[in-house]
Amino acid sequence: MIPRLTPKQLRSMIVLCAAAALLLGGTALLLANLNRRAQFRASSALPQSSPSETASGGGGNGTSVTGNIHSAEQVKAEGFLALVNKEYPLPDDYEPDTLVNLADKRPPNVIGLKNTSMEADETAFAALCELAAAMKQEGYEGLTVIAAYRTKDYQQGLYQEENGDDGKDASGKPFVQTPEATEHRTGLAFDLSVLDSAGMTLTFEDTPHYKYCLKHMHEYGFILRYPEDKQEQTGIGYEPWHIRYVGIDAAKEIQEQGLCLEEYLAALRAGE
Ligand SMILES: [Zn+2]
Repeated sequence: MIPRLTPKQLRSMIVLCAAAALLLGGTALLLANLNRRAQFRASSALPQSSPSETASGGGGNGTSVTGNIHSAEQVKAEGFLALVNKEYPLPDDYEPDTLVNLADKRPPNVIGLKNTSMEADETAFAALCELAAAMKQEGYEGLTVIAAYRTKDYQQGLYQEENGDDGKDASGKPFVQTPEATEHRTGLAFDLSVLDSAGMTLTFEDTPHYKYCLKHMHEYGFILRYPEDKQEQTGIGYEPWHIRYVGIDAAKEIQEQGLCLEEYLAALRAGE
């Protein structure tokens, strides 16, 4: 049975329906607007790069490489392939969120630490411990981390100590980077040394540990970040003690192709 409606009831129904339609329409508009705003927020948090500048990197590391971008979000999105140098400086507000205390995380009797307050990226340090354990099995003991993560302020102090307040490098070799240009701030870089039985620090380049690193560190995801024959490309003098975690796939490719990180990332971008 369809109830009969008086003209008055019919008018009321029509008014009610119109009101409901307006309400629904308004809600839909509001939702669409909110959605657009959310999308805008999401996109503005992303690096300001064109799609052609984005390359998937590291063969499964889940990281990406982009152009000359400096936001903290971007550096984090680049992950293990983050490029930090004078051309790609770190922003002031960049702070890694993957740091762990090395003394807490190291397995016993595998790797030495200059001090117990040192921090680094958790994955990178776990890989370094594996490398040190493999070295130890070969009979090379005493591998010691003398520098890992550095805060911006600490690096600023080092830079001024070494290069003077005016920022000039007296030696002509910029071994100490500005706070913006050091990848120690990412927690992915380590400076290594070896302690002999008397507790003396050896020159890393002269140790069998260094030779072992050259041969095997890529198997653990590390590269020599500032090779002797790549000073022009990196802009940094030869640093045999400074290794950088990039992930195993990227490290193997870099090793096989004889590249430095700058060249590897440029090739990735060009291959898009
Ligand atoms: Zn270093």
